[in-house]
Amino acid sequence: MSQTDKQAAKEPLPLWEAGWYRFARRLKSPNFGPRPTGAQPELIVIHSISLPPGDYGTGQVQRLFTNQLDWDAHDYFRSIRGLKVSAHFFIPRDGQLWQFVSCDDRAWHAGESTYRGKANCNDYSVGVELEGLDGLIFEQAQYETLSSLAAALLQTYPITQVAGHEHIAPGRKQDPGAGFDWQMLRRSLGLAAASIPANATDVASG
Ligand SMILES: [Zn+2]
Repeated sequence: MSQTDKQAAKEPLPLWEAGWYRFARRLKSPNFGPRPTGAQPELIVIHSISLPPGDYGTGQVQRLFTNQLDWDAHDYFRSIRGLKVSAHFFIPRDGQLWQFVSCDDRAWHAGESTYRGKANCNDYSVGVELEGLDGLIFEQAQYETLSSLAAALLQTYPITQVAGHEHIAPGRKQDPGAGFDWQMLRRSLGLAAASIPANATDVASG
């Protein structure tokens, strides 16, 4: 073992570095701002997205979150022209993990939202986008990546709740929808039933 190796073995890389997760591929988005003074991540918000909707692995979500999307490349893109959004994380169907915004900063994923009486969820949440379509199921590889990411978030931040975009903006948003297995996520993280939305149904039991 060389001197450098010994040093590396003694001091493993930290899991988080200024809100950036060690195991995520970094692609910085300009769409973020500071969290309000004193605000910390307390909530993980699960979303689903695909661009164009229903097409997977296109790379267009990464372009949207970095303001690189060619608005004229598709009819759907024209309909969202100029949209400036971001999430902290994106998990495509193959279970890769991308990070666009430091968890110490405020990403732009929730929009107008309230959860359990607390408004403006972007202020105090971490947004995770799963590649998919509202209501459809997700891949096992995506759950595996999401579980390990959520475990690392729970270890580091005072997070007590996980909810879907549909739960923080009811009537306005439907993602991730009925195809998302809340109970599987809850069990894999060892969370109490009160940590997920009360109306979160188990896919297996409908
Ligand atoms: Zn959403």
